[in-house]
Amino acid sequence: MPTDQPSSNSDLNTSASSAADAAPLPAQVDAIVIGGGPAGLTAALYLARFRRSVLLLDAAQSRLSKIPRSHNYPGFTEGVTGSDLLAMLREQTLRYPVHTAAVHVDSVQRREGGFEVGWAGGSARARQLLLATGVTDIPPSMPYVLEALRAGMLRYCPVCDGYQAIDQAVGIIADSEAGVGEALYLRHFTPHITLFMEQGAAALSEGARRRLAEAGIAWADEPIGSIRHWEGRITVHHGKRETVCDSLYCALGLEIHTGLAQQLGAKTDDDGYLVVDSHHATSVPGLWAAGDVSQGLNQITVAMAGAAIAAAAMHRRL
Ligand SMILES: Cc1cc2nc3c(=O)[nH]c(=O)nc-3n(C[C@H](O)[C@H](O)[C@H](O)COP(=O)(O)OP(=O)(O)OC[C@H]3O[C@@H](n4cnc5c(N)ncnc54)[C@H](O)[C@@H]3O)c2cc1C
Repeated sequence: MPTDQPSSNSDLNTSASSAADAAPLPAQVDAIVIGGGPAGLTAALYLARFRRSVLLLDAAQSRLSKIPRSHNYPGFTEGVTGSDLLAMLREQTLRYPVHTAAVHVDSVQRREGGFEVGWAGGSARARQLLLATGVTDIPPSMPYVLEALRAGMLRYCPVCDGYQAIDQAVGIIADSEAGVGEALYLRHFTPHITLFMEQGAAALSEGARRRLAEAGIAWADEPIGSIRHWEGRITVHHGKRETVCDSLYCALGLEIHTGLAQQLGAKTDDDGYLVVDSHHATSVPGLWAAGDVSQGLNQITVAMAGAAIAAAAMHRRL
């Protein structure tokens, strides 16, 4: 069975600042994949099996590693932890001759016949480039965020685990009225919901309060003072009051890792995601994108499907 340990032939679990593989990396490959989450690993697997030379560069911060247990990833009747799934995906991909390095890519430039990517202490060129750089959830101000995530008390994704919240006492932390939409979404799963606003957020409008009231959703008038978790429950202090929840959803937004694509002038949509066509090509020829960084539902299966589609199209272009 896989464990949380990195697979023996991978250095992807080392920190982003660590050196690249001990073996020298090739200066030129058919395809570079940036990002080693489910999208990047799937793309590298497909490309290697298409007998293309591949370089996989990853800063090892996959969202997958934060999932305590996923129950909507098909094939696992009891669910699967994100770290186990990541280890399995790495092990499968790295059975093929994929060059890897645990680095954070800082730059990408167009070059004759392809691209050059650069990181601290290195660079490489490829004819085709896939971005699978994902997103990062903006965390709440509270101690032990990772522990709360691992315990399933703090949550980021109602699509992923709303089912786990059925009939629970659920809190939502928001810094804008976008939190109202998340509260209404979760109302389908439980009637016990309270919306909390961050310090400094504008007060909820009259219209927002009306929509919440009509749906039977409570809200706190005072902004959040502090959040603590203790013995499987999570307590939100607001004003002089406190509310205890079974789980707390964080609706503070995402950082979408499109910086490299923007260096090449790739188009993003109104929400900030990379615009891709049905083959997962971006608006820049030779640049592809899959997973959370591109348009679509932020889900493991969607990330993998997009990566498979992109890799097949890249293979045809190579
Ligand atoms: C708490 C939580 C629970 C979730 N539960 C589920 C669930 O149950 N089911 C489900 O389907 N989905 C779930 N998700 C969502 C799922 O984790 C993501 O949809 C999935 O991981 C996206 O894969 P990805 O490959 O696009 O991005 P990621 O997995 O985030 O991987 C991106 C990788 O790119 C690397 N990277 C970024 N920039 C650079 C750079 N410049 N240079 C080098 N590397 C870089 C990052 O370090 C990271 O390793 C959950 C997410 C969270 C946070």
